[in-house]
Amino acid sequence: MTDLLVTNGRVVTQDADRRVIDDGAVAVTGDEIVAVGPADELAADFDADRLVDAEGGAIIPGLVNPHTHVSDILLRGSFAEDRGLLDWLYNVKRPGTLAMTVDDQALAATLYCLEAIRAGVTTFVENDTEVVWDDWSTIEAKLAVYERSGIRSVYGAGMVDRGADPAFQELVTDIQARDANVDHPPLELFVEETDDVVAEVESLIETHHEPEGRQSVWPAPVVVPTTTTRCFREAYALAEEHDVMTTAHVAEAEAEERRDISSIEYLRNVGYLGERALLGHCVQIDERDVRILARTGTSVAHNYMANMRLATGFAPVVAMHDAGVTVGLGTDNAILNDTVNPLSDARAMAGGHKGYHRDPSVVPAQRAFDMLTIEAAEAIGRADDLGSLEAGKQADIAVVDLNHPHLTPCSDPVFTLVHAAQGFEVDTVVCAGEIVMEDREIQSFDERVDDVLARASRASADLVERTGFE
Ligand code: FE
Repeated sequence: MTDLLVTNGRVVTQDADRRVIDDGAVAVTGDEIVAVGPADELAADFDADRLVDAEGGAIIPGLVNPHTHVSDILLRGSFAEDRGLLDWLYNVKRPGTLAMTVDDQALAATLYCLEAIRAGVTTFVENDTEVVWDDWSTIEAKLAVYERSGIRSVYGAGMVDRGADPAFQELVTDIQARDANVDHPPLELFVEETDDVVAEVESLIETHHEPEGRQSVWPAPVVVPTTTTRCFREAYALAEEHDVMTTAHVAEAEAEERRDISSIEYLRNVGYLGERALLGHCVQIDERDVRILARTGTSVAHNYMANMRLATGFAPVVAMHDAGVTVGLGTDNAILNDTVNPLSDARAMAGGHKGYHRDPSVVPAQRAFDMLTIEAAEAIGRADDLGSLEAGKQADIAVVDLNHPHLTPCSDPVFTLVHAAQGFEVDTVVCAGEIVMEDREIQSFDERVDDVLARASRASADLVERTGFE
């Protein structure tokens, strides 16, 4: 007896041989995949309680988003295009997210999860970079929503233990002068004593990290300029001690790179690089840095669309791949991308690298799709149980409806998913063996999608006004 059979589809396994099984099926017992193979064979072998008929669609691993932010989704539309990273961060994101109430945060998390589920995402790594640690109510409200959502979350618990130096303080003051009406929170608001922030993060891991469940917590130093060397070391040690990973934003914009040695060299020297580290961005890096990432087994989250929007340039992914670095594709901030939908980014990302290198052979469709599935799972340290459809792995599955004019004809589903899908053709999502969405209907939240959208629009308008955005 099997609990669930997802059948009659083109199974894109993402296994070691990257097999695609036409007329295939996936059998699930409990939270695990027990068999993957031809639909007729599995129908004969397994008597399933529930059937999901893919009707010729693609059956793919649930997508893994290794770098994203959640709260700012309520600020969509308040972002003027002409802003670089620091202008956007200090004039838009920080004042906006700080003005959010706990209810706003829970609503943002709900909206985020609805969009992610509709896009076939079953695991996301949130980088919460604006944490005020003396009050956990915001964190707990968000984690409660993730729990209800039915999909997996990794909460990257933001750590800041170094204030801005006078030169940086002055730079931020100059930047903030552009938006004088906005209520700017003081720079030191998030700065904690090293021991205090380490203790808070450890306590959050102990209370909310579920080694066998859907919810994880990682230590997440925010950026190099606001983190002390000791904090980086403690974050890595926490990751080792609790068998999790750690993540940080590294070398995103030139303004951060003010050291005589590169950020990558610095992090290597202080012991932050290794198999438990996932670095977001890595845009401003050179060949030597890439070699260091490869040698230390450090993974990278490539945030192509957000980097393009902020015009920082983008990470040398082709060099990273050539050197053997594991790279997952992240969607980053919901108001920079402006989506949390990985499939919609894949085509732009693959095309961007091809155009930059003037070489159509780089980042082929299969590699781009890997960066949303098995390679992203590897980047977050979960390749053993996520990222592909294989017996013994967690039953995280999405069914993509291929019956659309823009996806027809489809001789190679991987190529079609990367280069033709818009990302919203997903119609069924299973996570840990539970059906989270079926025929586009989200099963995990009680509230109707339309009602959430209406609430989010109202809360956002109110937030934008309160913050003083024009
Ligand atoms: Fe980010």
